[in-house]
Amino acid sequence: MFGAVIHAPGDVRYEERAEPTIEQPTDAVIRTVAACVCGSDLWRYRGISEVQEPTPIGHEYVGIVEKVGDAVTTVKPGDFVVGGFTHSCGRCATCRKGATCNCENGGGYAGCQAEMIRIPNADGTLVVVPGPVDDDLIPSLLALSDVMCTGWHGAVSARVQPGSSVVVVGDGAVGLCAVLAAATMGASTVIALSRHADRQAVAHEFGATHIVAERGDDGIARVKELTDGIGADCVIECVGTQDARLTAVHACRKGGDIGLLGIPHGDLPLGQLFWDNKGIKGGPAHVRAYLPALLDLVLARTINPGRVFDLELPLSEIAEAYAAMDERRAIKSLVRP
Ligand SMILES: [Zn+2]
Ligand SMILES: [Zn+2]
Repeated sequence: MFGAVIHAPGDVRYEERAEPTIEQPTDAVIRTVAACVCGSDLWRYRGISEVQEPTPIGHEYVGIVEKVGDAVTTVKPGDFVVGGFTHSCGRCATCRKGATCNCENGGGYAGCQAEMIRIPNADGTLVVVPGPVDDDLIPSLLALSDVMCTGWHGAVSARVQPGSSVVVVGDGAVGLCAVLAAATMGASTVIALSRHADRQAVAHEFGATHIVAERGDDGIARVKELTDGIGADCVIECVGTQDARLTAVHACRKGGDIGLLGIPHGDLPLGQLFWDNKGIKGGPAHVRAYLPALLDLVLARTINPGRVFDLELPLSEIAEAYAAMDERRAIKSLVRP
């Protein structure tokens, strides 16, 4: 079978790889229906994270179960499934608290941009999508594998409630999904920080009530104008750079909450957060915990997170799928074998 392998920054190739097999009785092997490139894949593509050796890449997928190990009971060959960007056992004490991303027996994947994928901990990881699955829903189902559940996690971490005012820092696929999550939770004011017309349009479709294109102090001043002069109840930070994290701190009102989703770079002003009673929470999303409820919203066509995909290519053109995102010609690239 074929799949994507990253060899070096800027060098992702479509190559023949060993076909995955059942290695543990708790494994499933799925035949990929769609996969996609993540903003976090770009860290290696851009040389910000190291590529030590040629490595299969990708962690977002939907597919059809091909075979399962003897211990697997909740999915069977032929099922259409979606899973998160980490696998989780579903049984350990941490999973039972809903913190599935931090499963005591879990881990990540290498190589989901491929024709076939081995899924460890299949019972605790995969969710069956009841069929038949409409083809036009596939992008939104795929978005549940990471970006929609991650945006949701940001809104949960920032304690968004009906009537909240919310600022979303970052207009990539996760930021846009955070807008959708906040609006779906009933926020009355959703302010998207974005300078790109195509992303502003998606933010509006997803429920943003205001767009702020200004940056730095001017952006914070605009946010305060829209929030009774004090800043937002909830801020969802989806970038991770020092500038973005400080913007999140300054856009949050005293006594408000900040949900962090961007992979952290730089330090937060903990003293200021303390004296201002601003809450900080966040991290990688507990996708498996959020999946069932968000799947229902997608199947009911209440939410359409697949709107973040604005480029679809055959898997064989995975190199272009990366280049388009790297050069910001695409918000997010979907690939199909
Ligand atoms: Zn991802
Ligand atoms: Zn677990």
